[in-house]
Amino acid sequence: MAATSFFHPQYEALGRSELEALQMERLRETLRQCMNSPFYRKRFEDSRISPQDIRSLDDIVKIPFTTKQDLREHYPFGLCTVPLSEVVRLHSSSGTTGTPTVILHTKRDLEQWADAVARCLYMVGLRPGDVFQNTSGYGMFTGGLGFQYGAERLGLLTVPAAAGNTKRQIKFITDFGTTAIHAIPSYAGRLYEVMEEMGIDPRRDTKLKTLVIGAEPHSEEQRRRIEEMLGVKAYNSFGMSEMCGPGVAFECLEQNGLHIWEDYYIVEIVDPVTLEPVPDGEVGELVLTTINREAMPLLRYRTRDLTRILSGECPCGRHHKRLDRMKGRSDDMMILKGVNIFPIQIETILMQFPELGNEYLITLTNKDANDRMTVEVELREFSDDYPKLQALTKEITRQLKDEILVTPEVRLVPKGSIPTGEGKAVRVKDLRKTLI
Ligand code: ADP
Ligand code: ZN
Repeated sequence: MAATSFFHPQYEALGRSELEALQMERLRETLRQCMNSPFYRKRFEDSRISPQDIRSLDDIVKIPFTTKQDLREHYPFGLCTVPLSEVVRLHSSSGTTGTPTVILHTKRDLEQWADAVARCLYMVGLRPGDVFQNTSGYGMFTGGLGFQYGAERLGLLTVPAAAGNTKRQIKFITDFGTTAIHAIPSYAGRLYEVMEEMGIDPRRDTKLKTLVIGAEPHSEEQRRRIEEMLGVKAYNSFGMSEMCGPGVAFECLEQNGLHIWEDYYIVEIVDPVTLEPVPDGEVGELVLTTINREAMPLLRYRTRDLTRILSGECPCGRHHKRLDRMKGRSDDMMILKGVNIFPIQIETILMQFPELGNEYLITLTNKDANDRMTVEVELREFSDDYPKLQALTKEITRQLKDEILVTPEVRLVPKGSIPTGEGKAVRVKDLRKTLI
C-alpha cells in the first residue's frame, strides 16, 4: 500500500485507543462547557446527573438526547454556552423538515470547521493548484461558506459560483479550468444535461476530475451514473448545519463508506423507536455529540438520519469509523399498505435502467381508501416506440415490486417534465388524505 498522506496527521492517523483517549478528554471539556448553558444545566439537574458522572465513553448513554425540537424551543440563543459577544457567525438549517434551527459559532469554531472541510478535500486528493467550484447556495445554507472556507484553508483556488444559472456555471468550468466541483447529486445530473445541450463534452472540454456530492440522499447507482456522465470520481460528503455543516463525514479515495471525524464527534447508532444502541453493523439513527465546539456544543444529538457503522479496517490507514451511505431520514420513510419504503430503494432500481434519465417523482395517493404509489420517471431520450416503452414500463414495475413489495404505477415521461428547483430535490409527494 502506498503511504497515505494526511492533512492533519496528528489526528487523522491516530490509532483507536489514542483516538478514544482524545475523545474522552474533549468530552470532559465539552460537558464543563455545557454547564454554561441554562438549557443543559437544567437537563442535567432534571436527569440527576453531573458532568463528573461521565467517567468513560460508555457512560455517554447516561446523558439525555438533544433533539431538533429542543433547538426549536430554545431558538435562537438558548443553547449558547459563551457570551454572545464571542459569537461571530450564525447559520441555520435549510428547513427541509420544518422551522429552521440556528447554530452559533465562535472564531475558533469557524477555524475548526474550515480545518475539517480542508481535511476532507485533501483526503480525496485535492491540492493547491486545483480549482474548486462550489455550486451550493451561499448565505444561511452551510454548504456555501462551509466549503468556501474549507477549500481556501487547503489552498485551493475557490470559485464561489453559488447555486443556479447552469450555463454560467458551465462557462466558469471551462474558462477557469475547474478541476473539482461541489454539488448536490440532483444538480450534478442537471449540469451534465445542460453541457450536452451546449455541445460540451466534459471529458474533452473540461478539466473536471473530482466531484464532491452530498446534502441529500443518493444511491450508489446514482453516484456511478454521475461519474460516468462527467468522467470524474464522485465522493460522498455528509454534514448538517447542527454539526456545523459539511465536513462531518466524507469518503476517502477508497469510496467505501464515509469516515466520520471522531476527534470532532462521538458517534452512536440507536434504534429510532427504543433509543437503545443497535449492535454494530445494524442500521439505526445516527446520534452525534460534538466534542470540538465552543459556542454551541450538542450532546447526543438525534440527527434522524439512518445509517450503520461499517466494520473492518480501511486501507487508507485512517481509523476513524466509517458510516454507510445514508439510507434517508427517519421522516423520509413512506408507509404504504403497511410496508416501510425509502425513496432511495426506488432510486436504486430506476438508476439501473440506461433508458431512464436522472429525475423521478414518487406520488402517494389514497383514493378509495387504497394507498397507491405512482412513480414518474424521465426518459433519457425521446422515443415513440410504444411496444418497447411498454415492455420497459413492465420491467421497471416488476423490479420495483420485487424491491418494495408493493406494485407502483410507473409512468415514463419526457425529459424536462419533472420540475427541478435549485435546492435539494423533492422526490416524494404524499397527497394521501387522512380518512376518518
Ligand atoms: P435540512 O435539515 O433543513 O435539510 P441541512 O442543510 O443541515 O438542513 O441538511 C442536513 C441533512 O441533509 C442531513 O441531516 C441529511 O438528512 C441530509 N444529508 C446531508 N448530507 C447527506 C449525504 N451525503 N447523504 C444523504 N443525506 C445527506
Ligand atoms: Zn479510508
